[in-house]
Amino acid sequence: MVRLEGGYCFFSPPFFLPMNEMSMKYDFAFIGAGISTTVMLMQLKKRGLLESKRVLLLDSNVFSIQNKSLCYWCNPDESIYQDFNHLIEKNWRTVRKNTSDVEKLESFVYCQTSAASLVSELKQMTSFYHFDICYEFAEVFETDENGRYMEVNGEKVHAAYWFDSRPPKYDSNNEVTPLIYQSFLGLNVKLNQPHTMELELMDFNVPQDGYTQFMYILPTTEQEALIEFTRFGDCELHEETAHQRIVDYISTRFGEFEIVSQEKGCIPMTQQLMIEHIADGVIELGSRAGLIKSTTGYVLKNMHAHASFIGDRISENLHSEQIKMEWNAVKKPRRFHFYDGLLLSILKYKPNWGKSIFQHLTQKGSWDETFHFLDEKSTLGQEAKIFSKLPILPFLWATARCLNNQNFRGLSLLIILSVIFLLVSPLQNVSSILSGIVLGIGMITIGIPHGALDHLLVPIFKAKSSSTQIIVKYIIHMFLMFALWYFSPFVAFLIFLMFSAWHFGESDGESWGLKRTESFLWGLFFFYFLLGTHNHEAFQIVHIMTNKSIYWTASWYALIPVMIYFTVRKKGTAALLCVWLYLATFLPLVLAFGLYFIIHHSHPSWKRIQVAISKTGLQMWMKALPFQIGAWIFFVFCIWFLQIKSYSDLNEFYALIFVFIACISWPHAWVMTQFYAARKGVFDAK
Ligand SMILES: Cc1cc2nc3c(=O)[nH]c(=O)nc-3n(C[C@H](O)[C@H](O)[C@H](O)COP(=O)(O)OP(=O)(O)OC[C@H]3O[C@@H](n4cnc5c(N)ncnc54)[C@H](O)[C@@H]3O)c2cc1C
Repeated sequence: MVRLEGGYCFFSPPFFLPMNEMSMKYDFAFIGAGISTTVMLMQLKKRGLLESKRVLLLDSNVFSIQNKSLCYWCNPDESIYQDFNHLIEKNWRTVRKNTSDVEKLESFVYCQTSAASLVSELKQMTSFYHFDICYEFAEVFETDENGRYMEVNGEKVHAAYWFDSRPPKYDSNNEVTPLIYQSFLGLNVKLNQPHTMELELMDFNVPQDGYTQFMYILPTTEQEALIEFTRFGDCELHEETAHQRIVDYISTRFGEFEIVSQEKGCIPMTQQLMIEHIADGVIELGSRAGLIKSTTGYVLKNMHAHASFIGDRISENLHSEQIKMEWNAVKKPRRFHFYDGLLLSILKYKPNWGKSIFQHLTQKGSWDETFHFLDEKSTLGQEAKIFSKLPILPFLWATARCLNNQNFRGLSLLIILSVIFLLVSPLQNVSSILSGIVLGIGMITIGIPHGALDHLLVPIFKAKSSSTQIIVKYIIHMFLMFALWYFSPFVAFLIFLMFSAWHFGESDGESWGLKRTESFLWGLFFFYFLLGTHNHEAFQIVHIMTNKSIYWTASWYALIPVMIYFTVRKKGTAALLCVWLYLATFLPLVLAFGLYFIIHHSHPSWKRIQVAISKTGLQMWMKALPFQIGAWIFFVFCIWFLQIKSYSDLNEFYALIFVFIACISWPHAWVMTQFYAARKGVFDAK
């Protein structure tokens, strides 16, 4: 190992492959040298991949990670058991359920290791193989013709594989994907009285203080144990209060004791994954890769599975992006994500319900079943058995809350507004004034602005991009599309139809969790159906736009197979949108499309952009304003250039609006595709 102090770090050849004068290349470079990096390195070592390789660790705190007990459960046949066998400090095969009941684990062993053991494992590897350690570095990735690099002391450092495990930041104000904390204080104690050797995982005989709080007992010998006071809540434990609680608990239950050492910590519990933490050509590890199980805080087993997956792929010489894509493609049943979401909502918004849920789970069920469920390996039947033992009301409440999410709220608003328009449709004047107001306000507040923030999105997936470059490219693309409309409107129309099907399908697919092809097919169906059920209006507008007679019809029957498909695929909101599409057949084409565009397309996109750029709605609107004004100026240009003077025929006006939308949405659609591709790495990594 080459250890380089004081921010200076490079060891000269033969350990580097020089790329050019100011550039060096490692085989593996790690930013952050904590638990997940150690687990990853162990897997590389196991496969012989560290032999004569150059490894770089970038961490200002290397080897000094806070000691803590790290527990996990596993079947002795699982590879984690073999791989971590030499690190296991203690294991248990029985769990105490209450004062009189002890459960013998049939399929699992509950194991304990420690951060200290992993640190010494890391130290051993660094002294055995060619490691360099560096404490100061630029922290920001750059890209050149040789790929990703990071500047360290003015030198470019490249690596065949970059890994990043810097702890992610979370958004505590996110109401849709809540964040809570698992905070705890543990005392390693020597008891005066001998104690039984059973593990106790959740003893709720402690005050709840408005949170979900319980004790863990991990006995190591008859008179020694780690006793941990844990809180699930939106506020971390206060150390002094926690200390008092734990001292009271131990004294009441075990009598006199002596404190040997203490450990404390806090694990974020959330399903959030932030897009800014995902970088092309870099493999995220640990909590940064979203591997912490959001409802338990356990991570070691996931880290092991992730690291061994990556190790296998590196043995096959796959590059980072392929590895990430293959990992994201591994099928993980989404229902567990849903269950975790429900429990997190309960723990965040109804913390006093937590005790009853966990008590039912631990007292009435078996730990073997629970561990299997938490490993996300249970069958639907086993899950039904577990849920039947839980109080139903909290989960009904959480399901209702979850259904009342943005997707569902948006869809409900779309349906309600459509029904209102249908009711007022006999009053033609009222209906047209109302639709003008609703669509006008919708376009100014969200329709146009949602596409006027692309300059803030591009830097997320394209590190080296200046605002000026983005804007210039945008304007060029807009005018190219306009020129195409001018010279070859039919081709422009076909392109418009195709990329709209792609873009709208993609956005809906993001909301519903569809695959790319599915999303595109949905987009095609959407336009086929909407235009086909409004064939007369569509014919006239398209005729003005293209000077060609394009005409097709669609019947509402076409919705039936699509609804069945979405129902079978358990895509409830997608099936509900089909119900809206049926209602839409009774509305005028422009109104139906406008409502869909503003409420179902622009609003969810706006929300996704908001998460990515962390701004308030008003800040976003203000950032979009100059571009919105630019778009309207372009609109005026279209009117002037096309010499449209009379709008007595509304269809002419609509045709102009669609040409305008085609021009401004053409570059936007491609930005969104790349933005969603970057996000995919985030969400599928769950
Ligand atoms: C007290 C406690 C007990 C836990 N118990 C368990 C358990 O029993 N079972 C279980 O499965 N999980 C447990 N966890 C969770 C688990 O330990 C953590 O989630 C795990 O450490 C995450 O690993 P990581 O590699 O992502 O992050 P870490 O292990 O925290 O490593 C991150 C590394 O990045 C470094 N770093 C930070 N910022 C930068 C930067 N800007 N640049 C470069 N490097 C940086 C840090 O110095 C650190 O070395 C526990 C956590 C705590 C806090």
